Amino acid sequence: MDISERLAADETSRTVDTEQNDADVVALRDAILDKLTYHVGKRRAVATERDWLIATAVAIRDLIVDRWVSSTEATYQQGAKRVYYLSLEFLIGRLLFDNLNNMNMIETMRAALAGLDVDLDKLRALEPDAALGNGGLGRLAACFMESMATLDIPAHGYGIRYEHGLFRQVVKNGWQHEYPEDWLAMGNPWEFHRPEVSYNIGFGGSIEAVPISEAAVRHVWHPAETVEAVGYDTPVVGWRGRRVNTLRLWSARSADPLRLDAFNHGDHAGALAEQVRAESITKVLYPSDATAAGQELRLRQEYFFVSASLQDLVRRHIRAFGHISSLPDKTAIQLNDTHPAIAVAELMRILLDVHQIPWEEAWRMTQATFSYTNHTLLPEALEVWPVPLMERLLPRHMQIIYLINALHLGKVRLEYPSDDRLLSSVSMIDEQQGRRVRMSHLAFLGSHRVNGVSALHTGLMRETVFRDLHNLFPERIVNVTNGIAFRRWLFEANPRLTRLLTDTVGPKVLEDENALTALRPLASDRAFQKRFAACRYVNKLALADLIRRELEIRVDPNALFDVHIKRIHEYKRQLLNILEAIALYNAIRARPMDDWAPRVKIFAGKAAASYYQAKLVIKLIHDVAKVVNNDPTVRNILKIVFLPNYSVSLAEMVIPASDVSEQISTAGMEASGTGNMKFALNGALTVGTLDGANVEIAERVGMENIHIFGLTADKVAARRQRGLDAGDLIAASPALSEVLDSVQAGVFSPDEPDRYRGLVDSLRYHDYFLVCADFDHYFATQRHIADIWRRPEEWWQSAILNTANVGWFSSDRSIRDYATDVWDVPAYQASA
Ligand SMILES: *Cc1c(COP(=O)(O)O)cnc(C)c1O
Repeated sequence: MDISERLAADETSRTVDTEQNDADVVALRDAILDKLTYHVGKRRAVATERDWLIATAVAIRDLIVDRWVSSTEATYQQGAKRVYYLSLEFLIGRLLFDNLNNMNMIETMRAALAGLDVDLDKLRALEPDAALGNGGLGRLAACFMESMATLDIPAHGYGIRYEHGLFRQVVKNGWQHEYPEDWLAMGNPWEFHRPEVSYNIGFGGSIEAVPISEAAVRHVWHPAETVEAVGYDTPVVGWRGRRVNTLRLWSARSADPLRLDAFNHGDHAGALAEQVRAESITKVLYPSDATAAGQELRLRQEYFFVSASLQDLVRRHIRAFGHISSLPDKTAIQLNDTHPAIAVAELMRILLDVHQIPWEEAWRMTQATFSYTNHTLLPEALEVWPVPLMERLLPRHMQIIYLINALHLGKVRLEYPSDDRLLSSVSMIDEQQGRRVRMSHLAFLGSHRVNGVSALHTGLMRETVFRDLHNLFPERIVNVTNGIAFRRWLFEANPRLTRLLTDTVGPKVLEDENALTALRPLASDRAFQKRFAACRYVNKLALADLIRRELEIRVDPNALFDVHIKRIHEYKRQLLNILEAIALYNAIRARPMDDWAPRVKIFAGKAAASYYQAKLVIKLIHDVAKVVNNDPTVRNILKIVFLPNYSVSLAEMVIPASDVSEQISTAGMEASGTGNMKFALNGALTVGTLDGANVEIAERVGMENIHIFGLTADKVAARRQRGLDAGDLIAASPALSEVLDSVQAGVFSPDEPDRYRGLVDSLRYHDYFLVCADFDHYFATQRHIADIWRRPEEWWQSAILNTANVGWFSSDRSIRDYATDVWDVPAYQASA
């Protein structure tokens, strides 16, 4: 049997640790050499590691393509309903191990490369991360793509092929600097350029109303400017190659790349102006995490990828089913946040203007096709576009939005005749500060389902931002709690723990996330605890080595690794953590001979380039680290490290080596979090607030196995009502007073004593994120954690119970929920 036959014969029986077969190894080795010669164009004697990586990736890609073609054909033949996931961000990371693992080929590949004197792990480290996203939202999209393929759901992801993904973070003297990231520099071996898949995207111009009968007109949009969207396809491999779906990313190309007349007259830059303008649309990922971009380029990006995607899926639908009218029966489109919300107006435009569907029918079809996921209630992150900008850039869409709104408000007025407050609250046009289009309302009204991403967040959606819309449409909002792909976040990131799990629970643990519960009875088994702890220890050795190489800091792998990695944002409260570190530092200096549990505080995360407060927190972490790490009285009791350039690959390295997971957002502000799930799955104990999915993690692992502190979301709201001055709280807490006084006095910034004056003042007088209110409780919780750390049997029992009880947070479960409650499509179920 050759390799692809062998893979085809294999279904679910093998484990991660499958014995490789000699014939497979030889065939794969030959395939790689073949790719090196004919794809890369190099001889073995002169091949670099980069050449081997490309040859290796392309050799696997060939095997993936066989599955891809059969998945696509089967979907056509069955006339199956398709899911389209529209997302401005896909935070993918590396694909080599994801693809090898899902194709069940890691060990075969390792052996094949070893026969060529090439080290698979070195190639793994060489691949750049595809960082086409900022954080959790984009990472969720990547996990969902993998789960949809795993669950055999015919799905396409649509997004933008940014030439430069999320910026590279370099820390100089404690300050973050942003450098462009260049993931495509050495070529992308996973993608297929599809120059024949291209669409014209219009901007600006005018609308002509052409009479087509006594009573009706047809609207024809004459754009002033046209940009071409070209597709690039990346296959998305499901577990064991069950199904291979497509991620189609759009790149912008000028319709007229070069003005030859201008060029020949010597105006070389001017000749290329149009090309530069067009291609700027897909040049960079918008580097903001939680603020709306008030910039035209962002709106152009949104419309560009939405229009290309809708044109593409409508064309595919008509080719498969003959007519547009069955679109809602055969298509579910998920809007990942409001970034693609303009799709509601774009589909209406296509139905009305291109296919001449009457308005009522077009609106029914649109609502039946779309659903929308809300990711945040932060006011600054809710997208609103100034009406004049929309009218200039998307004049036809603005007409359609006005009409949708007028019909909607007309119905509301019938039911609630003179409720002006209600009308202005549910209107798609916000009249507060100049007229602006509320994209959340457009997405809500154009969808049949709207979901939040954790139980708490969905509840808050119903009570706050969408309160009035929820009262009008009480069935529309549902909850789908986020999840993570266990293949990446456990099997690939933590092969040691995975091997322990397959050894003890059996290979079914790889197929069925619920099988993890079989660990529960082993949680108190001393022998099992030791094996579990040994996995962690080896992972910590590797992380300690990384810290030494990156930062020239030596950390003790026997110390408690206390980890806070995520975007730097005030609501995520890295500040609370570093203030607690200072309080601990003060306590250690006060009683240096006490029996302290050695701890390493590990931070990583990027701040949005324009987010000064977040950058200042990074600087403070570095300033405090410098003092603490060099203080001889502290010895190795406390170390503080900040790992630069947080990414998916760094997370894969850090999380399996973590003892404590910091999930300490101000309650009510983190919609779900997914970092929290990755840590708990790998057996870290969470120190967290009752926020986002922490609430549901607590329900599943039990309150005795998670360390909850701080104000609840209700209490946060109540406290904010009373005012944000924290003077009374600070006065009541000697530890906090001492910490704030020292930071304010410049103890950690002797080169610039006033550096943190403003930061401390805002904590004292305007503590919006309730850092002071939660400080004492957080400090006490950390001391409690240290006590448990000294009792290993208790610690490891708790750690094992975390892993055992969080199977529910698999993105497979999330996707099954979407399949049933939102999309109405079947999903694969392993037969019991
Ligand atoms: C999981 C993940 C996130 C999201 O983390 P949260 O803790 O949920 O904010 C962000 N960035 C990367 C690289 C991730 O892997």
